[in-house]
Amino acid sequence: MSDSLQVTFWGVRGSIPVPGSSTVKYGGNTPCVSVTTDDSCIILDAGSGIREMAVYLQKNKKTYKNYNILFSHFHHDHLLGFQFFYPLFTEGATINIYAPTLESKYNVREILELQLKRVFFPVKLHEIKSKINYYDFKPGDSLTIDDFKVKTVLLNHPNYAAGYAISRKGKKIVYLTDTEMVNRIFSKQTDYETTTIRDLNHKLNSYADKLIDISYNADVLIFDSQYTEEEYESRQGWGHSTFSDAMFVASRAEVKKLYFFHYDPFHSDEFLDNHFKYLKEEYSYYFDNIDIRMAKERVVVKVK
Ligand SMILES: [Zn+2]
Ligand SMILES: [Zn+2]
Repeated sequence: MSDSLQVTFWGVRGSIPVPGSSTVKYGGNTPCVSVTTDDSCIILDAGSGIREMAVYLQKNKKTYKNYNILFSHFHHDHLLGFQFFYPLFTEGATINIYAPTLESKYNVREILELQLKRVFFPVKLHEIKSKINYYDFKPGDSLTIDDFKVKTVLLNHPNYAAGYAISRKGKKIVYLTDTEMVNRIFSKQTDYETTTIRDLNHKLNSYADKLIDISYNADVLIFDSQYTEEEYESRQGWGHSTFSDAMFVASRAEVKKLYFFHYDPFHSDEFLDNHFKYLKEEYSYYFDNIDIRMAKERVVVKVK
């Protein structure tokens, strides 16, 4: 028995699962990360990776009193594994679901029940044996979940998303994915003409400051790294960050460890390896100051 915090990556891919020979090393499953102790468990997003977690728990006969699932938002890649999380069908299990109220006419319960309708999924709702509790919150709210303190933040993404900082006994894990540095959205839009550079800088600084603030001094920061700088040029406004955005926030926030996360489905193992090598050479300043790594499926990070 140990009391340390454990972060496990079950799915690190953005947009759509990409199984196959070119994604064996980093993995093809979509977002799911668990933050656990011996007794408590937080699950960040229910992408296809959550099924891997469920299989692992079943195989190792590991159960938790509560399964706390925190959604960043409801784009498919963060939701599609939900109905394959076997504790849903386990008598006596309690699933607590936390999700931000964003710009949607549905609340979290309606969205998940929609997903479980027969037209999408063969299992009937009454076959769900667990007890499910739904908790909506407004990004910016603070939550207490088991013995974790959780801060939330609104993220800049189409229809928005929520980011999380999870703290327990002086240790802090931060999960910021599906976010775009706000200045970049504005920089190519028509209102650029009528917006002063000062306004743009102000928007950038206040958004970056929010991310830096919630990440400050984190032991582990997990950050959206969908694009290279070059790719980003033609993908502005799609709601994602670059590897260098991740390093910028990590460095300003003085985090201990940064994990790149939410890789573009076109990024093969070979591509990611080469890009990581390039970043190490090109951005050595960041690498000298922060322990920077690529998130990889099934990697377990012990935070002591
Ligand atoms: Zn996503
Ligand atoms: Zn998204």
